[in-house]
Amino acid sequence: MSAHHPLYEQLVGIVGKENVTDEKFALWAVYADAGIEQGNLAGIIVKPQTTQQVSLIVKLANRTKVPITIRGGGSGMPGGCSPYFPGGILMDMTDMNKIIEINEDTMVATAQGGVTFGALIKAVHEKGLDCCYGGHAIYSATLGGSVATLTCPIGAAKYGAWGEEIVCLEVVLPTGDVIRTGSDSTRVGGRFHRYGSGPDLTGMFIGDQGVLGIKTEVSVRLRLPPEAREFETYCFDNLERGTKACMELGKTGLIYDGLVIVGEHSCKQTSIKWPQIPKESKMIIMVSLEGDKETIAYYKNKLDKIAKKWDGTLAGPDPAKLPTFDLIGEHACKIRSYGVSGPINGFIPTYKLPKVATDVDQMLWEHQDLLLTQPDTGMKAWLNAAFMAKGPAVNFACRPSFISEPPQKWKQALEFWHELVNYIANQGSCPYWIGKAWTPYLTPLYRNEYYMFFKTLKQTLDPNNILNPGLFLF
Ligand SMILES: Cc1cc2nc3c(=O)[nH]c(=O)nc-3n(C[C@H](O)[C@H](O)[C@H](O)COP(=O)(O)OP(=O)(O)OC[C@H]3O[C@@H](n4cnc5c(N)ncnc54)[C@H](O)[C@@H]3O)c2cc1C
Repeated sequence: MSAHHPLYEQLVGIVGKENVTDEKFALWAVYADAGIEQGNLAGIIVKPQTTQQVSLIVKLANRTKVPITIRGGGSGMPGGCSPYFPGGILMDMTDMNKIIEINEDTMVATAQGGVTFGALIKAVHEKGLDCCYGGHAIYSATLGGSVATLTCPIGAAKYGAWGEEIVCLEVVLPTGDVIRTGSDSTRVGGRFHRYGSGPDLTGMFIGDQGVLGIKTEVSVRLRLPPEAREFETYCFDNLERGTKACMELGKTGLIYDGLVIVGEHSCKQTSIKWPQIPKESKMIIMVSLEGDKETIAYYKNKLDKIAKKWDGTLAGPDPAKLPTFDLIGEHACKIRSYGVSGPINGFIPTYKLPKVATDVDQMLWEHQDLLLTQPDTGMKAWLNAAFMAKGPAVNFACRPSFISEPPQKWKQALEFWHELVNYIANQGSCPYWIGKAWTPYLTPLYRNEYYMFFKTLKQTLDPNNILNPGLFLF
């Protein structure tokens, strides 16, 4: 029998034997996430259940200078939760799965960082309340992992990115100390409000990819469920006019969720699935609205007028119903099973959509031999953009599925994928899934002072570079 990892006994002492393994098959199971980037093999996996255990593990890692890679549901796409360096600790957060409180007075729910959106939604619905649904991987994505990656959720057109939903956090810092943020930062406050009592240190941990701290408890906003939902699909045969419509529709602030299918090839495929969508469409905007019936009717009337002003045609509610709660998740799962899924996401100002979408569409078209056709949809790749609240920006997404063999083609596919990331990064996009995929392209684009400030912050909080080293290239 081969020897255990040097930290095996000490980790068993913290979490118990059943929550530690250094067996090879288990290490292989967590060496990658749901995306294209592959990681390295960790040396040992540990599954804490309490904040105190997380803190003790981090302190042990500091004493022994062994790095920790944090892993939530592993549903991320850019390789953030797979080890950057071999041999370290992989902290699997999925046993931190307790819902701590659903408070109907403060309208705040608090759960451990390893709770999935699916589990939270179920518990919240049982109380007759509603909350953010997260992204489309609701049964695997965890609350903590989604804070670290700044998930772009369903309903982002109305409520914004997942960070906007966060009220307070409990964070285990890279030294093992535990802090609470927002109104919970004082001994008397409790969890009810994000801002006040000093700077917004909650925000510092949102989108940090885990390099600044481990999110052990997440407090999120609750709301009353909407009385009704309504859907509509607007089609445009001209990309520029469609984009103008996008900008004007977005500015109204009336949309709950808005998905834009963009680019000739993606629109063509969508029109095959939905014959009511004109074949010559270059942009398809699928919106969903929520509220009471009267309000929705008023909103819809306004939005219809805007779409028509830009020569949009209405294709009815059915196509728009699917993306809000199902299609992308279903699509992402399918491309994963048909090939290697390599989505690339980033926020861009809406006005840039025609150029970015046309260029990326062209790049994909020129590399068709590296893409896999999905048997049911006939799609090789999908371009879309999601409306974001509070600004004329969209979350642009390029979703190719790659062939993985023969090895030569796979090598070319990987090179092409990096070409796409590089192109999209250089269009001034703000990526939120950063991981290993984006860092080589993002970090050179940072302003020097910003990057040095961020690096100094990391060094101050994490002098031994214990948490997720390598992300952001430090
Ligand atoms: C089918 C499918 C559909 C998807 N749809 C969407 C979508 O609509 N919108 C969207 O934004 N994303 C989507 N995603 C991507 C993914 O679900 C999100 O990025 C999600 O937020 C990742 O959460 P996770 O728990 O799986 O994190 P992981 O992938 O495990 O980790 C992501 C990052 O967070 C860090 N991390 C994990 N847990 C913690 C913690 N507790 N504390 C600190 N750091 C931590 C990791 O180290 C890593 O850097 C989809 C993925 C799939 C497979």
